[in-house]
Amino acid sequence: METLSSSRLTTLLDKALNRCHQQGGKLTQKRERVLKLMLQSRKPLSAYEVADQLNKDNEQSIPAMSVYRMLDFLVSNQLVHKLSSANKYIACSHIACDHSHQVPQFLICSKCQKVKEIGIPKTIVEQLQQSVQEADFQLLNSQLELDCICQDCA
Ligand SMILES: [Zn+2]
Ligand SMILES: [Zn+2]
Ligand SMILES: [Zn+2]
Repeated sequence: METLSSSRLTTLLDKALNRCHQQGGKLTQKRERVLKLMLQSRKPLSAYEVADQLNKDNEQSIPAMSVYRMLDFLVSNQLVHKLSSANKYIACSHIACDHSHQVPQFLICSKCQKVKEIGIPKTIVEQLQQSVQEADFQLLNSQLELDCICQDCA
């Protein structure tokens, strides 16, 4: 798996800063640190793992509650996604992209926990919505999380 170069990281953080600004939010230093940590992580992290890592290089400990709030902010700005199945968070792979963000579909390797984010074509999302409606349910979240095995583990 490729490592994140520092120039790539700077680009991503710049883009993130702009995106928050456009959406009327503020990527504070603390939020930026959480995002940086998420971008550098190769695996999805739980809020507690994020808190642990933040507190490792910080003398002042950050309570889990504020970590949740920072993660919520990043999620609402689509910089980070929440994997409901694992109750963990992962940085968006499209932060530097100019295209609009699609409904994400996550392929999760059940062996090494590697996650790949791909977009679901609009037509499939619509079909999904339709079949849910036909069953008299309402779709609250069309994000898909699929159990997979990656090429390295296969
Ligand atoms: Zn994304
Ligand atoms: Zn993209
Ligand atoms: Zn794997």
